[in-house]
Amino acid sequence: MANDSATGPIVEVLLPLALDGCYSYGVPDGMQLAPGDYVRVPLGPRQITGVVWGTGGQVPDGTKIRNVSARYDVPAMPELHRSFIDWLAAYYVEPPGQALRMSLRAPGALEEPRHRLAYRASGTVPDRVTPQRERVLEAAGEGLTLPARDLAEIAGVGVGVVRGLADQGALEAVPLPAFQPFRRPDPMADRVELSADQETAAAELRKAVSARRFSVTLLDGVTGSGKTEVYFEAMATALAAGRQVLLLLPEIALTGQFLARVEERFGVPPAEWHSDVRPRERERVWRAVTTGEARIVVGARSALFLPWHQLGLIVVDEEHEPAFKQDDGARYHARDMAVVYGSLGGFPVVLASATPSLESLVNVDRGRYQYLTLKSRHGRAELPEVDLIDLRNHTPTSGQWLSDPLAEAVDSTLQAGDQALLFLNRRGYAPLTLCRTCGHRLECPNCSTWLVEHRFRRQLMCHHCGHQDQVPEACPYCKAENTLVPCGPGVERLAEEAVQRFPDARITILSSDLQRGHILRATLADVASGQYNLIIGTQLVAKGHHFPGLTLAGVIDADLALETSDPRAGERTWQLMAQVAGRAGRGDKPGRALIQTFMPDHPLMQALQAGDRAAFLDHEKQIRQAAGLPPYGRLAGLIISGKDAAETESFTRFLARRAPATRDVHVLGPAPAPLHMVRGRYRWRLILKCARDGDLQPFLKSWLAGVKTRGSLRLAIDIDPYSFM
Ligand code: ADP
Ligand code: ZN
Repeated sequence: MANDSATGPIVEVLLPLALDGCYSYGVPDGMQLAPGDYVRVPLGPRQITGVVWGTGGQVPDGTKIRNVSARYDVPAMPELHRSFIDWLAAYYVEPPGQALRMSLRAPGALEEPRHRLAYRASGTVPDRVTPQRERVLEAAGEGLTLPARDLAEIAGVGVGVVRGLADQGALEAVPLPAFQPFRRPDPMADRVELSADQETAAAELRKAVSARRFSVTLLDGVTGSGKTEVYFEAMATALAAGRQVLLLLPEIALTGQFLARVEERFGVPPAEWHSDVRPRERERVWRAVTTGEARIVVGARSALFLPWHQLGLIVVDEEHEPAFKQDDGARYHARDMAVVYGSLGGFPVVLASATPSLESLVNVDRGRYQYLTLKSRHGRAELPEVDLIDLRNHTPTSGQWLSDPLAEAVDSTLQAGDQALLFLNRRGYAPLTLCRTCGHRLECPNCSTWLVEHRFRRQLMCHHCGHQDQVPEACPYCKAENTLVPCGPGVERLAEEAVQRFPDARITILSSDLQRGHILRATLADVASGQYNLIIGTQLVAKGHHFPGLTLAGVIDADLALETSDPRAGERTWQLMAQVAGRAGRGDKPGRALIQTFMPDHPLMQALQAGDRAAFLDHEKQIRQAAGLPPYGRLAGLIISGKDAAETESFTRFLARRAPATRDVHVLGPAPAPLHMVRGRYRWRLILKCARDGDLQPFLKSWLAGVKTRGSLRLAIDIDPYSFM
């Protein structure tokens, strides 16, 4: 090919691959390229899409460099967004291409959009008029311009009839825009009258947005206090100033109910970005964000990587949620990176939560974040009363999980015509199946975990690798028959007990493996409208849903989350408990929360009962400070995995010996990871710990420089880890 090898100017192109740095390409004659341009370039035998990261170079003498193949006709990726990608990659010690990949998640969006054709009557009369043709012309004559399929449907004919009329010139084709445009939101569309408390907070946020400077504000208020209405005001101010607004939520909080609320407030449907959005719609959103047409995007964490054009505000709702941390592929924490984006772009960020993270609260203590609080619930609804049920005195019968006081409370709630929620953060029927005769436990063949029985699907499942098996008739170890028994409860088993105890209840189970996407959205709507009156759920139900008829929240096992090695276990338990309790009493009637625990004297349980968040936080801060854990110190994890046990261990030990000697960063381990095997890979861990201002990244860089993983070995770096498994 004549044009394949370059001699003149070159550009540096970042490719969406885990490569070190950019690749150089020649610029073909007549092509103008600037930083941020999206281009197609050859890589080996393939063509791939990348972004121009640098210009100004010349082909060095005697080297052969291939040319850029094409430049896409879309607005360039703004400099701010490119700096964000560079910043993120440096912080998480990962290849920038890996970060870029997240901004190129709608590949078709770069292509010339496919126009669709629509038809309208031209006034020309066809040679032959059949009744069918007449109906089409009638439909098309009403001033409507419709795609052939729609027109045929309205006229009750086949598409062929429409095409025939078009061939004869009786219908004329008009190109429709490839994508339906996003309508402009109206900042004033449906404002509610704010309470005095809300107005004070809203005024502060409006001021922060109007200042067009970087700031972070933590909006703290119990569930139902009206935080959403308040940050809507901040969004309205940014929209009125012509800026784009990003509203980030955890994936499972992105319900139809919530999106409808945004639509109502601003008069138009917002752009959506989450795992349920279909490819074609993704392309529409991606293009509309990059041209600035889409003004409001409501999305899950990856929406941060849309190529923003004029972003003026990010709101992160449920900011404490660990779901904002992505742990597969590129690792990042969307809340933290939202703050980084705001600081690079010079605009405000609002973090909202009823149970803010300790990280954010300590940033308030340090004076880095502004703090706004909404104290009471909107209207009359009060926070529910929380009572502990001591499982040592109220032990449920063997094989059952509801204590008498909790069962009685559910019963009277249902009798009164209200809704009750039972919370158990365990999917499936039973977390463990064992043989009564020999004690053998059914384990995953690929992972060091127990198989979880899912009775509805009649299967044993591994929650780590997805391995599935039939429940065997005989114990695989001692071959005894009918000796396998389920141990412990999952939501399915709890539902079985509920059906027995409350035969008239209308029960639904909300668990991510049973309901997802639009089915889940539909069920949530049915819960809100009162079709179900007993809800059994995992943490899926703890999220910001608004169920006005729910007056009782029961927690089956509050000790569950405390039994892990996670340094945030206490905080997580507090957040989950407070959120589950917060589901109750959001309507006119007061709510009540009952918490079953074997540790009623634990400071956390005591603080929950007293509703004393300050006491809990003081306790938690002391623990973290004494141990140098976040937010008082920084952590990073190295996860080493491989198919061979001995090789994985020796590579980990070799790595540990190579760690640079410094007093600033402590290397803990090596130790086998708590989840020692996943998907047939052995896993080891090293944990790095340093002071809050410690230089983790340079330390890691010099440590790992020149380290190559061979064969099946993999090395993953996890900065600010949230998972310690
Ligand atoms: P939060 O986000 O703190 O959980 P919401 O903003 O969802 O609270 O408010 C809880 C409920 O109260 C919602 O149904 C909301 O529409 C309603 N609400 C909040 N503020 C007002 C207000 N000023 N006027 C009327 N309704 C309000
Ligand atoms: Zn497994």
